[in-house]
Amino acid sequence: MNKATRKTVIAGNWKMNKTPAEATELLTAMIPLVKDADCDVIACVPYVDLQAALDATKGTNIKIGAENCHWEKSGAYTAEVSAPMLKAMGLEYVIIGHSERRQYFGETDVTVNKRVKAALSEGLTVILCVGEYLEQREQGVTAEVCAMQTKIALKDVSKEDMSKIIIAYEPVWAIGTGLTATADQADEVCGIIRNVIADLYGAEIAEATTIQYGGSMNDGNAEELLSKVNVDGGLIGGASLVAEKFARIVEAASK
Ligand code: PEP
Repeated sequence: MNKATRKTVIAGNWKMNKTPAEATELLTAMIPLVKDADCDVIACVPYVDLQAALDATKGTNIKIGAENCHWEKSGAYTAEVSAPMLKAMGLEYVIIGHSERRQYFGETDVTVNKRVKAALSEGLTVILCVGEYLEQREQGVTAEVCAMQTKIALKDVSKEDMSKIIIAYEPVWAIGTGLTATADQADEVCGIIRNVIADLYGAEIAEATTIQYGGSMNDGNAEELLSKVNVDGGLIGGASLVAEKFARIVEAASK
């Protein structure tokens, strides 16, 4: 197991927060704080903030991503945004399958797979979210749930495209709740997901795939979580909305 074979990626998920002006303000505050990062730094922001975010971060080491995309290229899908639209803006990243999409907006493993393939076909890098509910953890089916979500999301994704897949293990019970998986729990499940990738694509690709932890990661717990061999970064919700907190997580990931 060699952590050095893969990129460490710290990504913010702003969810439904910040107007374009506020996005500019937050990113402007972050830029000097993360400029020396020794990891990839991404901010995934609401659609309406994308242009402001791209403008604010031009020429910096902060990359911008969207929080979702539709699987069709265009058509009668009111209020949806397609992968080619994101690509045309100059974006490189998109989150797919976040548990809030699964919980509140009817996202299924099958639609996650469709979105993943649409994003990949535009050359976008996907941050694919998987994770179990508390009841599932308590029933002892965390491994099965995460393996199933990962396998279905990656159906028909080629070996070549796996370089554009980042997986975020996000236990649903830890998202926005202040509850964090222990570093050992995060490491264990990220390792289980890595084994699924090895079964599907072989050990070399599994070793090269970045697997993040997400779920109340903050500037107080990031260092311990990120010290684990299978935890290659973080997907950060609440703490990504405060420049100093996000920057301290980036700092922890850069050690
Ligand atoms: C998330 O939105 O992906 C997330 C992990 O949120 P939080 O850090 O607030 O738990």
